[in-house]
This record gives sequence, C-alpha cells and structure tokens, in this order.
Amino acid sequence: MSTTLLGIVDDRALGTSMRLVVTRPAKLDAARAAAGTIIRAIDETASRFRHDSELSRLNQVPGRHIRVSPLLAQALAAGLRGARLTGGAVDPTVGTAVRLAGYDRDFASIPADGSPIQLDVSTVPGWKAIEFDEAARTVYLPHGVEIDLGATAKALAADLAASAAFEAIACGGVLVSLGGDIAVAGEPPLEGWAVQVSEDSSARIEEGQETVSIQTGGIATSSTTVRRWTRGGVVLHHIIDPSTGLPAAGPWRTATVVAGSCVDANIASTAAIVMGDWAIPWLKASGLPARLVDHDGTVHRVSGWPQPDTSPSSNS
Ligand code: AMP
Ligand code: MG
Repeated sequence: MSTTLLGIVDDRALGTSMRLVVTRPAKLDAARAAAGTIIRAIDETASRFRHDSELSRLNQVPGRHIRVSPLLAQALAAGLRGARLTGGAVDPTVGTAVRLAGYDRDFASIPADGSPIQLDVSTVPGWKAIEFDEAARTVYLPHGVEIDLGATAKALAADLAASAAFEAIACGGVLVSLGGDIAVAGEPPLEGWAVQVSEDSSARIEEGQETVSIQTGGIATSSTTVRRWTRGGVVLHHIIDPSTGLPAAGPWRTATVVAGSCVDANIASTAAIVMGDWAIPWLKASGLPARLVDHDGTVHRVSGWPQPDTSPSSNS
C-alpha cells in the first residue's frame, strides 16, 4: 500500500506540545493559521492558569448569574457532558480540590516536594451545583464552587482546531494533537491516521512501538505517571476522585480511549482512571475501545482495542 505524503508542524500550545498534520502539505500554513486561532481562543477563555481568562474571571464571581461567551458556553457544556456521561466521575467542580492538592499553577512550576496537606471530599461540591442555561449562555456558581475544565477544554481545542483547519483548507485531512489529545477531520490518509500509544505525550515517535489507526473522531490518554508530586511524603497526582476529593487511587495508571470526538475520548480516559475496576464494564457498555495500563505496567485492551503483534498483555 502506498503511504500518503504528510505536511507536519510541531509547536507548543496550552502549556503542552502541539502537532498539526495535513494530507495536503501545500495547505499546511493555512491549516496552521486556522488551528492556531481557535487554540489561542480556548487558552484565553478556559485556562485556569491564566488569571485573565474568562473562566478565571467567572470563578471569581460566585453567587451571581453571569452571561458567558459562546466559546466558554461550549467548553462548560463539554465539561458537564462529561459529568452526565460518567455519573460524575468526571466533574468540573474539582477546581478547589485540584488546587488544594497542589496543582495551582502550570505543571512545570509546581515544586516536586513540600509539607503535608489536608484533603477531603468537602472540597468537591459536585457538578449539579453549577446552574447553566446553555441557550441563554448564563452560569450561576454558588460560593465555594470553582470550575476546572482541565479534562475537557484541551480536547475541545483539538476538536475545534481540527474542524477549523479542515474548513480553512477544504480538502484532504487534518490531525491536531495537543499533548497527545488527538482529533482528526476530513479524509484520513489511505492507511488511516497512525497514532503511537504512549503513557507520556512527550515520548518520541519510534519504530516498534504500539500504534493504533483511526479514521475519524479522536483519541486521548489520561495518566497519573507524569503529572505527580509529593507532599509530606505522600505522592499526589492531578486526577481527583470526586467521591473522595483525593487523587484517584484505582488500579490504572494510564488510560487511552478512542471515541467519536476528542472530547468524548478525554471524558472516557479521565473517567477510567477515576472509576478503576468499574471502567471496564462502563467502557464496554459505552462501546469505547480502550487500553488500560495498571500500576505494574500490565496492559489491558478492552472493548475492541486491537491486539498488537507482540506485547506482554491480557485481554479483558
Ligand atoms: P486528563 O489529563 O484529560 O485526564 O485531565 C486531567 C485534568 O482535569 C487535571 O489536570 C485537572 O485539571 C482536571 N481534573 C482532575 N480530576 C478531574 C475529574 N475527576 N473530573 C474532571 N476534571 C478533572
Ligand atoms: Mg486528557
């Protein structure tokens, strides 16, 4: 089979790596401009690390009905969709818990070690506390509710950037990866979009690694192996179990999921880390192929995730 000649550009965005791939290399610049515009807009709208983002400003005015921009409304809707689909395993009201756990700035600036901290479930008010009228684009946050869209906003940026880039070039196909959260649009390469599966989005792309091929939609990975730190001798990480307010303690250190969009893949990958053993029946019932890695490195491929040629794995 002949392989498609691709145009590729690597950059940084949203505090992570960004890769844009097009199947019509002559259109790379136009695709890049369109993708860049929407990714910058998401950063200005939904980042919790920017004090001037629309989300940060919303978090600062609890107890009032606030009209939000169409893009923040879309990002809030994606976060709340995550909560609905996962029975609250994904919950955008984890903002306070994530911050108290120590993830209160761009990950690169978090001290690796520090004094003990006290965490408990009282810091997660629950997604039903958010009053959101999507049609009117109004939001009401009770006092004590801090929204964090970390599990869905980057994925939404990938989905919107891939669509915007494809619309701008109106031919071929586009892939956008933001730190390994990947969305595709348009016509895929003949051989499909080959994605290397990795626990660390900064891993190099090499021969001999497990890859999976997608044609549409998106793929996302959530992992507790990279974004972790220590407080009072306790290892903490960035994915909070809303039922405890603590970093999730389930059997999976990494979850990779394929879905109809990058947002849905991301909802499912974050949820899998939180759900633990329950993730397997939930992924099967949702029809989402997934690759779960447990703490000793054993790989579990579930719900139709393809078996690689050689790998120390089990199939559930
Ligand atoms: P991901 O890497 O896609 O799994 O997203 C993790 C990010 O989402 C974290 O860095 C937090 O900002 C946020 N987050 C952590 N736990 C949750 C949760 N249970 N529900 C929703 N967002 C979460
Ligand atoms: Mg993610």
